Amino acid sequence: MIPRYGPTYSWHDSAVALSKALMGHPTRQLRRELSRMYGAKHVFLVDGARVALFLLLRALGRPGRVILPAYNCIVVPEAVLYAGYVPLFVDIRRDSLNMTAHSVENSMSPDVTVVLATHQFGIPCAVDEIVSISRRHNVLVVEDAAAAIGAKCQGKMVGTFGDATIVSFHMTKVISGGIGGALLTSDDELASKVHTLLRAAASANRRLIPFLRAFAWKAATNPLLYPYLHVAYRLVYGEAMHELLQVSSEIPPRFVRTCTRFSAALVLMQLQQLDSNLHRRRELADMYRSELSEYSVLPAILGDCSPAWIQFPLLVGDRGTFYRYMQRKGVDLSWTYRYSCSDAFGLGGFPNADRAAKMVLGLPTYPSLSDEDAWYICAVAKEYLSTLS
Ligand SMILES: *Cc1c(COP(=O)(O)O)cnc(C)c1O
Repeated sequence: MIPRYGPTYSWHDSAVALSKALMGHPTRQLRRELSRMYGAKHVFLVDGARVALFLLLRALGRPGRVILPAYNCIVVPEAVLYAGYVPLFVDIRRDSLNMTAHSVENSMSPDVTVVLATHQFGIPCAVDEIVSISRRHNVLVVEDAAAAIGAKCQGKMVGTFGDATIVSFHMTKVISGGIGGALLTSDDELASKVHTLLRAAASANRRLIPFLRAFAWKAATNPLLYPYLHVAYRLVYGEAMHELLQVSSEIPPRFVRTCTRFSAALVLMQLQQLDSNLHRRRELADMYRSELSEYSVLPAILGDCSPAWIQFPLLVGDRGTFYRYMQRKGVDLSWTYRYSCSDAFGLGGFPNADRAAKMVLGLPTYPSLSDEDAWYICAVAKEYLSTLS
C-alpha cells in the first residue's frame, strides 16, 4: 500500500539528529538559520505552529477578532480562543482553497485586531494584498506558513510579508521534524513580550521520547508495515470522512512547551536539502496536474507564486467513495480536513469551506514517493474519475 505520508528524514538523519541533540547546540543553530532565511530578527522555537500563534497573540495583548479561513485545521481557531481572542471566519475560494483579499476587506470591522494570512497546504494566498488592506485598518498580519516552508510569491519567501510568521515542523509538513514549530518576527516590542512569556515555559528536556517517536513514525510508514498498522488504526479510530468537531476549551499542556533539541536538530539537517525537497514536491504536483486536469478541479495557483505542496488537494465529489476505491487499489489518501471550522463552531454561510470539507482529498507529495507510484496513483485516479463524467 502507498502511504499517505512519508517522513522527509532518513534513518541516518534521525541517528545524527539524536547525537546533535545530546551534544551540540541545535536550537541556537536552527534559530540562526531561520532568522537568516526569513530575514527575521527574532525566532522562537516552540512545540508547534499553534503554540507559536498562541504566544504571539498573548504577547500582542489586543484581544479582539482574528480573521482566518473557515476551511482550516481546527487547532488554529482553538489557539485563538485560548489566547483570549475570537475567531472571525472567512469563506475560501473554491479553487485556491485560500481566503481572498476581497473577502478579508469585507470582513474588516473595528474589533478586528489580527488577520491570519493562511497559505493552505503550502499554496500561497494573496498575501501582499492582504497585508496592504490590513495596514490600512491598523491590523496585525500573521502569516500562517505552517505548511509553506519554502513557498514563494513574486520571488519572495512566503512568511516574509507580514508582521509575524508561524511555521510548523510537524511530521506531515514540508520538513518533518517530529513535533515543533517557530514564531518569527522583526518587531522588537512583540519579541520582548514573547520572551517574557517563554521564560516561564517548561524547557524541553525530553531527548529520547521525540527520537523514539520519529523512529516509530519512520517504521510505521514503511510500505511493508504500513497496511497492517493502517487497518489497526482504523479499527480503533474509525473512518469518519466528514464530522462535526467539538471545539476544545481546555488549554493543553504543550502550549507552554518549547521545541525539543532533537526536533531542532532534525529540522536543521533537512533545511540543507530544502531545495531538492521542494523540487521533488513540485515535480509530483506537476505530474498530478498534467494527468488529472481533465478529470477534476485542481488547485489554482496565483500568478508568480510557487507552492510548497505538503500534499496535492483534489476535489473528488463524494470523497468517501473515492477514498475507498483508492484503498482497494492500494493507495492511501490524506483526508485533509474532515470538517469546516465554521461548522465546528456552529456557524453557517460558508459554502465553499463546507464543500471543501466534504469533497477534498490529498494526493501524496512527499519527496520519497517514486515516479512509478505517482504514475500508478494517476492511473487509478483517472480510472475512477472518468466514470464520473
Ligand atoms: C499544520 C498546520 C497548523 C498547525 O501546526 P502545528 O505545528 O501542528 O501546531 C496550522 N496551520 C496550518 C495551515 C497547518 O497546515
